[in-house]
Amino acid sequence: MSLSQRDKKHLWHPLTQHKTHPETIAIAKAKGALLYDENGKEYIDGIASWYTCMYGHCNPYILDKVQKQMQELDQVVFSGFTHEPAVRLSEALMEILPENQQKLFFSDNGSTSTEIAIKMALQYHFNQGRKKNVIVAFEEGFHGDTFGAMSVSGLSVYNGPFEDFFISVERIPVPDGNNNQEVLSRMKELISTDKVAGFIYEPLVQGAAAMKIHDREGLNELIGLCRENDIVAIADEVMTGFGKTGTNFASDHMVHQPDIICMSKSLTAGLVPMAITSCSMKIYEAFYSDEIAKGFFHGHTYTANPLACTAALAGIELLRSEGMQENIKRIIASHEEFDKSIKDHPKVASTRQIGIIYALDLNIEMDRYGNLRDKLFKHFMEDGVFLRPLGSTIYILAPYVISKEQLDKVYASIKSVFSIV
Ligand SMILES: *Cc1c(COP(=O)(O)O)cnc(C)c1O
Repeated sequence: MSLSQRDKKHLWHPLTQHKTHPETIAIAKAKGALLYDENGKEYIDGIASWYTCMYGHCNPYILDKVQKQMQELDQVVFSGFTHEPAVRLSEALMEILPENQQKLFFSDNGSTSTEIAIKMALQYHFNQGRKKNVIVAFEEGFHGDTFGAMSVSGLSVYNGPFEDFFISVERIPVPDGNNNQEVLSRMKELISTDKVAGFIYEPLVQGAAAMKIHDREGLNELIGLCRENDIVAIADEVMTGFGKTGTNFASDHMVHQPDIICMSKSLTAGLVPMAITSCSMKIYEAFYSDEIAKGFFHGHTYTANPLACTAALAGIELLRSEGMQENIKRIIASHEEFDKSIKDHPKVASTRQIGIIYALDLNIEMDRYGNLRDKLFKHFMEDGVFLRPLGSTIYILAPYVISKEQLDKVYASIKSVFSIV
């Protein structure tokens, strides 16, 4: 029996309706920008396995560092103990994070990093005797699948069953360059209720909303307004962090900086799960007190796992290397060229790019939507290209190490769908 068949017996996959999607593909191996299935067929990983393996799968530099660390210290409680990988990682992150970020709190995944950010924002006010319990979020945002994270994400069929249990949230549209004043006014109105504790947003690009890019100045103004009014601004950089928008963090594109930043995907270069919620001294100081109860009583068993910290440290070294920065520039330029060649195609409704993130919306009749996503996915996989279209949007978020030839193959595969839709 194949792995895919054995899988069916006991495994329950994420984000899957197993009745309509019974098939899984077994991946046996991965290297660089390539995945190999159990039959040896290779696929270009066009989305870096959900934006994680940006320096390539099984990167030898990272593997070597982690293998050495494994022989020294595997795991230890981080409450009351510390270790070199965590300390060194904190020092390395300080060099690439926006300057106001000074303290790091560890957890295990993107959802917990935003959950922690929300709890920090709520307790920040609570500790100062203020009753503020509303979080403002963007309508189509995505911040994860745990309760707090799900509450501040856009409403959809995915979080519908839990709506009655959400924390208090007010959703506003993203600034698009035309509605900036309206969005800003809406935020002012919400702030005037004296109930708003924080504002959470995916800076400049909303991944799950099909790589929608919003207005830089509009977002900058919203953050500035929050900072002025002591509303905790939370940048969810789980997807955008570590170079993807052409700067280390998407927040670097703006003048106003958030109070809190969430990081996870690609923090550990895709090797193991880990997340960090960073914050400014202003936030930290609201917890620093002779009163024990003012501390932040949140903790996960695997906090700051030494192997994960080592992988993250090696990843940051790679990100900052000249070679990787050149790769990023090359991909940005390459996407720009590709864009010129397709943006006027009748099957292309619109295109957008920020850094190495590129997306296009197909121009198709509504009645052809049906199983379009599945059809596109199958087409790409047959071509040896792993892309996960979102509705009628096709996007590329490839590892920085993808070669010119591999990238050209991804482009060719995308162009070839124009004749089938
Ligand atoms: C993926 C993602 C999350 C959730 O991260 P998980 O590790 O899947 O829990 C949160 N926010 C953003 C912006 C993401 O892309």
